[in-house]
Parts: sequence; C-alpha cells; structure tokens
Amino acid sequence: MKIIDVYVEYASYSVDKSFAYLCDDESVSVGKRVSINFNNRDIIGFVVNVIDSEECYEQICLDYGYKLKYVTSVIDKSPLINSDLMKLAYHLQKITLAPLISVFQTMLPAKLKPASTNHKIKTEKFVRIKNACDKLSDKQQIAYDALVNEKEMKLTKWRLLYKSISKTLEDKCFVEQFDKQVVYINENNFISDNEKILNSHQISAMDTIENSDNNIVLLQGVTGCGKTEIYLQYASKMIKQKKQVLILVPEIALTPLMISRFNNRFKQDCAIYHSGLNNQEKYEQYLRVFNNEVNVVIGTRSAIFMPFENLGLIVMDEEHDSSYKQETNLHYHTRDVAIFRSKMANCKLILGSATPSVDSYARALKGVYQLVSITQRVNNSFADIICVNTKNEMKNLQPYLITNELKQKIGECLSRNEQIILLLNRRGYSPYLKCSNCNETKMCPHCDLALNYHKVDNTLKCHCCGYITSYESTCDHCNSKVFVNFGVGTQKLQEEVTRLFNGVKILRMDGDTVKIKGAHQKILNSFSNHEADILIGTQMIAKGLDFENVTLVGIVNADNGINGADFNVNESIFQLITQAAGRSGRGSKNGRVVVQVFDDNNYVVKSACNQDYVSFFNHEMKYRHQSNNPPYSYLISIVFSDKNKDVVENEIRNFKSGFTYNKYKVLGPAEMIKLIDKYRYRLILKGKDLDVMRNDLALVLQKYKENKGKCNVVIDVNPTHLQ
Ligand code: ADP
Ligand code: ZN
Ligand code: ZN
Repeated sequence: MKIIDVYVEYASYSVDKSFAYLCDDESVSVGKRVSINFNNRDIIGFVVNVIDSEECYEQICLDYGYKLKYVTSVIDKSPLINSDLMKLAYHLQKITLAPLISVFQTMLPAKLKPASTNHKIKTEKFVRIKNACDKLSDKQQIAYDALVNEKEMKLTKWRLLYKSISKTLEDKCFVEQFDKQVVYINENNFISDNEKILNSHQISAMDTIENSDNNIVLLQGVTGCGKTEIYLQYASKMIKQKKQVLILVPEIALTPLMISRFNNRFKQDCAIYHSGLNNQEKYEQYLRVFNNEVNVVIGTRSAIFMPFENLGLIVMDEEHDSSYKQETNLHYHTRDVAIFRSKMANCKLILGSATPSVDSYARALKGVYQLVSITQRVNNSFADIICVNTKNEMKNLQPYLITNELKQKIGECLSRNEQIILLLNRRGYSPYLKCSNCNETKMCPHCDLALNYHKVDNTLKCHCCGYITSYESTCDHCNSKVFVNFGVGTQKLQEEVTRLFNGVKILRMDGDTVKIKGAHQKILNSFSNHEADILIGTQMIAKGLDFENVTLVGIVNADNGINGADFNVNESIFQLITQAAGRSGRGSKNGRVVVQVFDDNNYVVKSACNQDYVSFFNHEMKYRHQSNNPPYSYLISIVFSDKNKDVVENEIRNFKSGFTYNKYKVLGPAEMIKLIDKYRYRLILKGKDLDVMRNDLALVLQKYKENKGKCNVVIDVNPTHLQ
C-alpha cells in the first residue's frame, strides 16, 4: 500500500497544503496526476510525495487520526513534472508565496493543468472542393479554379473575393465548408542566413561568456551589434554536444526575425512555444520536449517551464522587457526562473539587451552576473537622433503633435520612397473626454479611470475592464451631450498624418488592430512589402522589428508620464525611446530619429538621445538611492480587494498590525483606484533583507488564512510597477 500526498486543484490559500490519500496502484509516483474524491467532489490532484507502507488500513488511519480515502485512479503514465521542475515548483512557491497548486497551474500547458474541465480547441471555417464541377458560368469557373489552385481557403476570404458566387458553388455542392484548427503559422519568408565569421568584439564577448566562472552573463550591446549571432553560434555548439537550448523572447509575433534566423539554422530541431498556440499545440510542443525530440525551443515566458532534462544554454533576449514578468495568477519573473534553471542544469544563461534593466546592470557591476558589453554596431552606423522640444512649438502656436521638424523629415523620406515608423504609446483617439458644460471627465462606471474615445467605431472604452459605451452618451453629472476630447492616441495621430500627407498609405498597429489572431503578422508583412509608407503604433512597434527600408522613426510625446509615481517609469521611458530609435537605419541607408518631448533637459531624454546607457544608469541610480528604491531596497506589494469597501479597509488594517517590522517598513494601506467594481488597498513592505520580509509575510498570511479572511489577496514580490 502507498500513502501519497496530493495537492488539490483549487488555487486558493485555504487549501494550500497537501492531503494524504491511499493508493493500490503501484505505478503512482511523484509528478503524476490522480483522480480523487475531495469534499464529495471528483477532482484532480497532483502527487508530491509517495511512501510505501507495510501497515494495514486500520493502523494507517489510526496513525493519521482520520479515515484516509483511496485515490480513484492514476491518470498519467509518466510524471508530467520531472524532478527538476518539481524542485523549481517548490522554489517558486517559496519566493512568490503563492499556493503550490497555482505554481503547477502556471507551469503546465492548459491540457495538462490539474483541472477537470477540458479546454476546447479553437477552430476556423474554411472551404475546399467537394465535387468535380460541370457547366459553370465564367465567373463561377474562375472562383472554382481559384479554390482548386489554393486547395483550401478561409471562409471569410472566399466570401470576400467571390461574394454571391461563393454561396452558389456551395449550394451546388461543388464546394464545402469545414472546420480547421486555428494553427499559428509562421508566415515569414525564410531568410537565408548563414553562419557569420565573428568580428573581434563578438569573439572577445564569446570568449568571456565561455570562460567565465559565472554562468549568468549580462550581454549588453547596442541593437545591431551582433548579439543574436552570438546566441546562434553558442547554441550551435551546444547542439553539437547533444544539449538543449532555450531562447526566450518577449513576444513571438513581434520578433519574427529572431524566429526565422533560428528556424533557418536549426530547421526541424526547433520548436516554437507561445501564447498564440492553441492548447493542443502547446501540449504537443511540451511532449516533444518531454520526449527529447527537439534541441531548440524559442518561446515566450512560459517556455521557461518546459520539461528540459539536458539544458546547455538559456538565452533571455531583451531581458528588460516587461512581458517577462507575469502579472496575473502567479507573480513570477522569468529571469528568476531562468537563473534557477541554469543553476540546476549548470548551463550558461545569457541575458541580452541594449538597455538592460537597472536591476540587472547593477548586479552585473557588482559581479553577481558576468558583464559583457559590445558598443559597436556590426555595420558601424548609428542613426542620427534629433530631439525636438514641443514646448517651444506650443509657445509659438505651432503644431506639436507632428512638429515642423518631423513633418519635414517625413516629407523627405517619402520623396525618397523610404519608410517611416511613428510611435505614440497610447491607443485610441484620445485618452479622455470632458463635458463641455460642467467640465467633468467621463469615467468608467466600474473603474476609477477615464474612458478613452475611439473615433474609428465612435465608442468610449475602458482600457482596463473593456467596458464599452456609445460616444453619443450623456454626461453623468449634468446630462449634457457635448464632450471635448483631450490628449492624443494613435487614431488621432493617424488622422493628423493623413491630413498632412494626402494619399500616403498608413498602417496602424496597436491593441485595437491586432486583436484578431495573425493580425500582427499581416500588418508587419504588409509593411515589409512596402504596401504602406508609414507604420503608426504603440510600444509594440518598438520591439525587435527590422525593416531595411525604414530610415525615419518619429516618437511622439516621447516623455509622456516622465517622473511619474512609479519608481521605474523613467527606466521604461528610456528603454522605449532607445529601442524605438534602434528601428531606424538598420539597412545600408542612413537612419534618422526624431524624438518629440515636452522637456529636452531631462536626463532620461538626454541619455536616450545620445544612446548612452551608462549615463542613464548612473543618473537613475542616484535617484533610486535618494528614494531608497530598488535596487537599493526590496519591495513586496500586498493588494487586498473586494466589492465591499469596509471589508477591505478593515481586513488590511488588521493584516498590517500582524507585522513586527523592526527590520523593514510597512507602508500603507494606501487606497488604489477601483478596478472592475473592486475596491483595492495596498501595503508595501520595503527593506534590505528580502528573506526577512518574506518570512514575516508568510506568517501573517498564515494567520489571515486561519482567520478565514474574505478579501482577494495578491502578493507581488519584487513588483515591477506599483500603479
Ligand atoms: P543584435 O542581435 O545585437 O541586434 P544581430 O546579431 O542581429 O545584432 O546583428 C545585426 C546584423 O549584422 C544582422 O543582419 C547580422 O546578420 C549581421 N551580423 C552579425 N554578426 C556579423 C558578423 N560577424 N559578420 C557579418 N555580419 C554580421
Ligand atoms: Zn456635464
Ligand atoms: Zn473599467
């Protein structure tokens, strides 16, 4: 007889412990799922411990002090979580203070998650030829032949191209509809990309990486200095040694170049793992790694949980990117997990970036990571950066959305038939509306946030909860119907560019235009084929894009939000400007960047315009030191939320009184803005010793659980932002 310890599938603090069950099935082992009866419900549990017992049922129950149940069945043939991942799970539980089961849930693809519901696989409607045709009209024949040619076509495309004829052909049973699984297709043309002979900077970087005693390397190098080539060549060495390689990227759709270069060099050895895959596909990729069938995985943050057994290299490209921090469910940072995995596998971890996070760079300077810097671009050319102060333009009543300087540069670019990227980090038409009668801002009824005006569909939207209402609504205070809009979003910018440059073709890429699957790729392909002259977008266009023909990048309102309340807002602005500027002049032609700001005297703007990371870092560290913010201290954010305001207020105050805090500060509780009808309050622990704070918090949390607190409690250790 085996006694097993099982975690049940509820991701709640109240059941964050294991429960003992009995099992007759010899095959049961750690890391497998079992069906169990828990509180009279049939649910799934995760086995975390197995002990053999020689004792009889009665004796075991006597030892435990209650009647143990038998598991209903053992679900998996082999453990889903290998021993490395099991260690990682406990480590994550410890550092995030989250329930262990939510760690498992985050680690596993949905199909394998310890939940009893089966997720549906997404499908799309397609059409294909059903029967050979006889006697068709000319137009029908054209449509029919087109489908013969393409074999299958999306229903939407078929309808769009052949309108009523498409229906007629279906009615006549020549063509039929069918459902097809939505599959992520990497539509990139494969670029030919041969292994390069490393230049002297790359050779010395590679030398340091290989010979350093430190397995964690921060590779800081300007965009285009050849970092990716280093990843590729190191990966190739590891594969020759029969080891596995993991390449982490912030977002697959936005890093097509990276994917195609790896795909191209490693072909079928390469698996791609990201949120665009459906559950079935994710499951298949997980199994491929599980069964040791692939050597290289390129993926977004969840790929760090793949069941590798033989890792030789982890690369985390654009290591500063905010998408590496998960902000829902389990609040983990991919970098922390990557560090842990590289230690377990005793392999190198390369953190690569042109603009490393202040935290990582500070660690590298202290010798916690090996620092490797490359300052030369491979083609030795940098874009010219021009900083334009819009304050002056505003004083002289000149336009400031697109200043004369930027307008002139756009004109020049267009006349040379080159392309332009315009960045404005705000979607929608305008971020808020005011009643022209009483001057009140139109707010979301569920959140303490202004509604954004979207002119394209004439709606007002909440960018937090998704609430939508018509623009033709009335003021909540005086019932007036007239609103004035303030501020700018990408839609307004598009309108302005269209007005200034008659007939110019524009693509827009922001949260609104990329909602549909594959939309990213479509926009990027279209821009790459020069079907548009200008690409307007939010921060998503600042990432790893590489268009040979783009010679001008304009950044509008580049310093919007600077010196804001969040301790790292300036870091994000610096990164955004620098990354966006790096999109210009990547080919053989000279590149220009126009950065429009309200204050050109700020260190963030100055160092970004000079492409001077070190100067930015030194300034920023001074301010972080003065305010005792990370990396000079550690923070833990604790947010309580509930629909009942009194409950939140009372519970969080009680919670605060549980701390002993002589070694750290407990700040708050501070009221936060209401989101999705929930009142929220926050406590912040701030101190130099993270372990002390974490241990204390674990105890206070334990008490809160025992007292059956009502609020939803979200803990974020090392939060990346606090707003
Ligand atoms: P990063 O990743 O730092 O942006 P890449 O590795 O993408 O830089 O290199 C920038 C460009 O230079 C790419 O087109 C790449 O193919 C090319 N390149 C990189 N290393 C070399 C080299 N040693 N010789 C010639 N071209 C190179
Ligand atoms: Zn009003
Ligand atoms: Zn809302």
